[in-house]
Amino acid sequence: MRIDDILARKQTFSFEIFPPRGELPVEQAVGIAREMSADKPDWISVTFSAGGSGNSANTAAIASRIQEEAQSCALAHLTCLGSSRADVDGYIDQLHAGGVENVLALRGDRAPGREEIDFAHASDLVSHLKSTAPWLCVGAACYPEGHLEAQSLAADIEHLKAKQDAGADFLVTQLFFDNELFYRFREACVRARIKIPITVGIMPFTSTKQIQRMAFTCGATIPAAVIKRLAAAGDDPADQARAGVEYACEQLRDLAANGVDGLHIYSMNKPAVAHATRLALTECGYLGA
Ligand code: FAD
Repeated sequence: MRIDDILARKQTFSFEIFPPRGELPVEQAVGIAREMSADKPDWISVTFSAGGSGNSANTAAIASRIQEEAQSCALAHLTCLGSSRADVDGYIDQLHAGGVENVLALRGDRAPGREEIDFAHASDLVSHLKSTAPWLCVGAACYPEGHLEAQSLAADIEHLKAKQDAGADFLVTQLFFDNELFYRFREACVRARIKIPITVGIMPFTSTKQIQRMAFTCGATIPAAVIKRLAAAGDDPADQARAGVEYACEQLRDLAANGVDGLHIYSMNKPAVAHATRLALTECGYLGA
């Protein structure tokens, strides 16, 4: 199943599987996906060496097993810094053999030993995939607050337009904690004639430490409303995690009320967190019961 076909029919709801350190064993990842599939996501995405962690060997295998055993459509991430065309083609062959038709085409973060070989930007990867594997549905990343390296949000949106022009079929946003920033970004995309669907990525934060790390690694603004909730939660890890889920559910309900193409949950391998978001979106009528 292609994600652009699903997006053409409905507002979507999706989850992510993320190998945090080292390789996430395939069996464990498939077990998590099976649990998450009880909440009937439209797809489950699988990250590729996120944060330069090197954990990419199992991405294609996990994506394929998700489709076979969790009966959910899979979106396999792929980064291109440090990869040659032959590396990319080999990965796409693996996806093809495993019946996976959806790829999120990314540049990847700069890291020592991860220099440009054949691809400088994600738009180069999108072009390559569209010309060599026309059967693929290709997504790309976008940044409501601008990518950390971008000179300005306007420059970043110009580069985003290049991904659409290269053939990207849909977008997934970086996480953010202030919905107003997304609404402004969406208007800027309309002005820039970006017309492909934008699915919104929301991460239920799990602790004060984790949200601080996210702020530094992806430049997300932490609004006062989040700081107040974490202050009220104090040092208790369970209260901090509960505050994260509650805040994310409020963000999701507001986004649902403001009409989005799709909602993607950075579910951090936690089926219970994914389930809480499904309940919130069912209660507000975004999802059917
Ligand atoms: P690009 O689109 O190439 O953009 C990177 C920077 O280059 C931006 O500042 C952009 O403005 C600029 N730029 C783009 N084109 C040009 C141009 N032609 N000329 C000059 N400047 C240009 N990382 C992982 O390692 N694994 C993952 O699985 C993963 N999943 C992700 C999923 C999502 C939804 C998101 C939002 C990010 C994900 N990342 C992942 C992180 C991502 O790899 C980084 O944010 C990376 O730094 C940029 O990737 P990109 O695809 O947006 O790159």
